[in-house]
This record gives sequence, C-alpha cells and structure tokens, in this order.
Amino acid sequence: MTNAVHHEEPGAAASMLGEALKRRIREHGPMTVADYMEACLADPKHGYYRNRDPLGASGDFTTAPEVSQMFGELIGLWCVTVWRSMGAPVPVALIELGPGRGTLMADALRAAQVVPQFLRAVRLHLVESSPVLRARQAETLQSAVVTPSWHDELAQVPPGPALIVANEFFDALPVRQFVHHGGGWRERLVGLDAAGRLAFCLSQDAPEPEALPPGLPARPADGTVAERCPAAEGIVAAIAARAGVQPLAALLIDYGYGGGCGDTLQAVRRHRYADPLAEPGRADITAHVDFAALARVARAHGVNAWGPISQARFLLSLGLAHRAERLMRDNPEHASDIAAAACRLVEAEQMGELFKAMALTSPRLAAPPPFAECLT
Ligand code: SAH
Repeated sequence: MTNAVHHEEPGAAASMLGEALKRRIREHGPMTVADYMEACLADPKHGYYRNRDPLGASGDFTTAPEVSQMFGELIGLWCVTVWRSMGAPVPVALIELGPGRGTLMADALRAAQVVPQFLRAVRLHLVESSPVLRARQAETLQSAVVTPSWHDELAQVPPGPALIVANEFFDALPVRQFVHHGGGWRERLVGLDAAGRLAFCLSQDAPEPEALPPGLPARPADGTVAERCPAAEGIVAAIAARAGVQPLAALLIDYGYGGGCGDTLQAVRRHRYADPLAEPGRADITAHVDFAALARVARAHGVNAWGPISQARFLLSLGLAHRAERLMRDNPEHASDIAAAACRLVEAEQMGELFKAMALTSPRLAAPPPFAECLT
C-alpha cells in the first residue's frame, strides 16, 4: 500500500459497516473503490440503500421527480410518443430502473392517461434493490391505473417490446478508479493508514489492460484519475441485447460527462458533501456517469445511442415551459413554487446542464424526441 492521501474526519462516529470493512481489509488487504462503493450502498445489513428512504428534504438528497411533477409528466408523454413510433405494441413493458419513491412513475402514468390505449398496453416493471423503497413505491403507486411487479434485476423482466426509464440510477453503480502514477496506471484502493483508519492507496501492480477504460490519454499528467463502471456497462449491454431482438427505447437521465478523465466519486449526507470514507453506509456515494462509455457499449451491440443532451434542452424541447404555464394558471396560489421548480430543473447553475439525458433505441426505430439530430 502506498500514497495514503485521504482519511476519515477526526471524531467521525465509527459505523458498524466501517468496522466490518476495516476487519476485511486487515484480513484480505485493500479493496477496490468499486467493492467499497458496493459495500457502502448495497451491503445486505448496513448498506445505504438497504434500510432508508434517502430522498427529499428530510433525507440526504433531492432528485428531479421530487422537485416537480412536471418532470415525470413529460417523461410519461415521451413514453407514449415513443411507444407509438414503435407501432404501438401490445403489451409493452414499461420498466423503471431505481424508481426511488415511485414519484416519477406516478406522474408519468397520470400524464399518460390522455392515451388510454397506452395504459391498457402497459405492464409495469420496477427494478429496485431496496426493500424500504419498494414499500414506498407500492404506496405511491397504490391508486395508479397499472399494478407494478418488482424485480432485483433487468434480466428478470419478461421479454417483449419495452420502454425503460432510469433517473439517477446509473450514478449509484460502483466505479473502479485508476490513477496515473510514476509513469503507469495503478488502481485506486481503499486500505488502512498507519492509525488504522480507512484511507485511499494505490495498487502495487498495474491493472490488467482490459480493466482500464478505453481511449485514455497517451501522456496523462501524474495524478490523473480515470473511472470505469463495469456494472453500468453490464446493464447497458443487457438493455442492448434486449433491444436487438424486440423494439426497445431507454431514457437515461443522470449527472455525468461525455468521456475523459477525472475523479467524480462523491458522498452526500443531509444535502451536504461528505468524506466518502467517513461513516460508510450512512452517506450516499455516487460517481458521475460516463455517457460516452455507455454509448460505446450500446453501439458495440448495434444499438443507437442518442445524446447526451442537457436536461434543460431535453425538458424545454418536450414543452416544460408550456406545462409550467398551464399548471400556474390552474393553481395560481402555487404559481411561484411552480416557476421556482421549473427553474431548478433547467437553469444552468442548478440541474439544467450537469444533468444529461441519453436515449438508446433498437436499430430500426425512429429518433426519439427530442434527439433527432443527436445520434452519437
Ligand atoms: N429514480 C429515483 C431514485 C434515484 S436514487 C429518483 O429520481 O428520485 C437511486 C435508486 O436506485 C433508488 O431507488 C435505489 O434504491 C435504486 N438502486 C440503487 N442501486 C440499485 C441496484 N443495483 N439495483 C436496483 N436498484 C438500485
């Protein structure tokens, strides 16, 4: 182990998971950042998503569907349009990956009521690992016109034509990190410092070349960090395999970037950035989504990848301003809240530019709105 560069905040309360991870590191040596992230988020007993609802003002972070009903409504109408462009198949699987509180889906289904044939065709499938959030989704969707079924993984959803929606799902998947150090690449690991606290360090050996992300710069500066998310690539490969045999369109919205290097690992607790190594399992840990990497995997499977475009462009092209005006007219007492929520979704310094939308579609499908000129 070399280069301990980062450690727990002094005085941070030791979490149960933290103690278990230290034991594991003492016995088996440092672990990859991906294994660390996986344990923090998905450990069956103490993982962050396993035993809490992290969303909303009282939780750790807020997402676009929780900011405004307009977000899910526009996505619901997007689904109807894309379904029609597929030739309106019956049935169609409407699949959401990581549905949180079920808010996006409830808003989407309500907006889609304008096309009753669509709702009659829909079979709703929610891919969710958290028992707490599954219960929350059941509650939110109680009075929805379609009844959901839940799955641990996309692979469990029955075959057939499909629409897939994922908002802030891919950022929760574990990334591996590689650091350029002393003329070569090393994997960034989580080990222990001299005082026995969790600390970042580097692998002794170079990683296997296939593990590194493709397209790395030829002569990176020392300290350059590159990330790769094998779990995200695996899910995109599964989406693409499905898209090859049945009509499929997927809409992925997340904060992310279009390729390149950088350390994007971050922890958030109670709406503030936190040290990712402090209190494992108690903070949300995410990494930005590398849309270029996901597009590359989709294309390698013969599937079209559209975008990414900014969330602002996506929502405004789908008619956010018009929808906001209408809502404000119908609810004048909430007009200023509605306007503020619309701004939060699209303003550049809020969610408008950092968040991006990308679509993946089966080879012969028309461009989904509003991606017509954005084939990557
Ligand atoms: N889409 C929601 C929630 C985003 S939070 C929203 O926009 O509000 C991430 C969601 O993905 C949560 O529902 C979390 O429990 C779920 N999740 C995280 N990792 C998962 C995994 N590996 N498999 C299935 N669901 C996962």
